[in-house]
Amino acid sequence: MVLEDWHTHNELCRHAEGTIQDYIKKAIEMKLDLIGISDHFPYEYLENSSLFIKEVPYQEYAMRLDEVDLYLSSIEKLKIKYDNKIHIRTAFEIDYFRSHEESLRKYFENILDKIDYVLGSVHILHGKSKLFAFDDRRFLGMYMEYESIDKIYMEYYHKLQNMINSKEFDFDVICHFDLPKKYNKRAINKQIVMDEVIKTLELAKKADLTIEINTGGLRKEIKEQYPSSEIIEKMYELDIPILFGSDCHHPNELAYKFNKMIDLVRKIGYNQLAHFDKRKRIFIQI
Ligand SMILES: [Zn+2]
Ligand SMILES: [Zn+2]
Repeated sequence: MVLEDWHTHNELCRHAEGTIQDYIKKAIEMKLDLIGISDHFPYEYLENSSLFIKEVPYQEYAMRLDEVDLYLSSIEKLKIKYDNKIHIRTAFEIDYFRSHEESLRKYFENILDKIDYVLGSVHILHGKSKLFAFDDRRFLGMYMEYESIDKIYMEYYHKLQNMINSKEFDFDVICHFDLPKKYNKRAINKQIVMDEVIKTLELAKKADLTIEINTGGLRKEIKEQYPSSEIIEKMYELDIPILFGSDCHHPNELAYKFNKMIDLVRKIGYNQLAHFDKRKRIFIQI
């Protein structure tokens, strides 16, 4: 059985524990075949924009821009050091902001040749009064500013749709597809939200994107992977490729509950997982 974890963090992002090497060593100990180093891309490029990124504690969400080179060169060195022990891939998890694709590209195009894949995420909504980091516990009070949780889901899926449709934002994998449920906040009008989910999945299929099965949700209040089994079934019907990510912020969370997830996706019908190398996707059998 091939075990690959495509979504991992490390201490550079300031809210995870352990060095990149700690994660690699743990992955080898656990006999993983591959570890994708995919820490959060910096938010500083948004500092001089109209977005008021200062409304969220973005310094605690990611490495600094001047640490990007160190991040990339560390991974290169570790790839050589552990060459015969494990496959290592280089990636970033990037938060998508529609109005700032161009400034992102300016920073990103210089390093693109070193990247094996890009995780596309939405963690921050525009909010009612100010930016809303809806997956940060400190912003839980802001859920009340919306008429209902469904409005948060709608804003979230619209943002995912913009990310998928973007001609500028070049990414490979959609992360934690139903993240607004994190704090056990389920949709009220399930049908309205599900319609938006389907619309988003159809766009993802058209754009030939991969969707991550993220086991981070199993460690949160919702106690369920992202996305739900119901959504994974729709993904299977649409023939959308998947891969696994633990979203670990501690080495002990690597490949978290992957065996359980393999059983789940097999039961739904999947028999292969996506795999990336230098932005090229192939498939491995499960
Ligand atoms: Zn994180
Ligand atoms: Zn994330």
